[in-house]
Amino acid sequence: MKIISSPLELKKYLKNKNLSIGFVPTMGALHDGHISLIKKAKKQNDLVVVSIFLNPTQFCKNEDLDKYPKKDEADKHICKLIGVGVLFFPQIKDIYEDDEVSLMAPKIRGYVLEGSTRPSHFNGVLTVVQKLLNIVTPTKAYFGKKDAQQLNLISLMVKQLFMSVEIVAVDTVRESDGLALSSRNCYLSTKERQDALKISASLHSAGIMVSKNILNSDEITKKMKEVLSPLEIFYVEILNRDFEQLSQVEIGNTIILVEVKIGTTRLLDNIWL
Ligand code: AMP
Repeated sequence: MKIISSPLELKKYLKNKNLSIGFVPTMGALHDGHISLIKKAKKQNDLVVVSIFLNPTQFCKNEDLDKYPKKDEADKHICKLIGVGVLFFPQIKDIYEDDEVSLMAPKIRGYVLEGSTRPSHFNGVLTVVQKLLNIVTPTKAYFGKKDAQQLNLISLMVKQLFMSVEIVAVDTVRESDGLALSSRNCYLSTKERQDALKISASLHSAGIMVSKNILNSDEITKKMKEVLSPLEIFYVEILNRDFEQLSQVEIGNTIILVEVKIGTTRLLDNIWL
């Protein structure tokens, strides 16, 4: 595995390779969720590039970037073991300059759900993803369905900016008890981790209602909020795949999304029906 930190060196290395390239952008502290993205990329491409970059611009002013888990050596080891071809490991100075051209998230879809409480978050996500896609110019890039709004906005960016990459959505990987894997789970105390199981339980209860043909969004969100109680809920929403509100679940075109705060940790999850 090659480890490269300079964008220009990476561009040079990948130039004229004439291979299909699968790209998996991450912020490190790799877990089985990231690994499933990498494995899918490996299956579908000749060469896999993984980036590990803790992107400062997607953290809002009140959020603690320094607290984010860092496991650089373990991450390198994991990437090597699972057959990553190139690990892109840039520093902040390799990616950002002081005075920058800026990319803004769309004014509506970037400021609902997670964007409503993290106003600059998606500007930072889209900016860094665009930079990374421009550096790697992959055939396909892999993103988790767990971050459904991020996936939606990145797909929108690629379409609206006429970028030549296929975005591949990958299913959420969970612990055996239902908790969606997240680098942030390590912040949870034992009691908080137990409380966090209410998130997947609420989504499970929604799935059961839908299987009984109860499709009304108000009824489903009411039940989900009961299951989530007494957690601090940011939102429970039933949307179509274009992120528009649905009054009724439409099978094959629905995402049910939840975000809560447990202690100081924000956790999000969703199911696609
Ligand atoms: P992050 O390092 O948190 O920026 O995540 C990098 C990529 O991994 C993103 O596309 C996430 O959506 C994806 N991801 C994070 N957690 C999971 C999970 N539990 N299952 C599948 N993909 C995930």
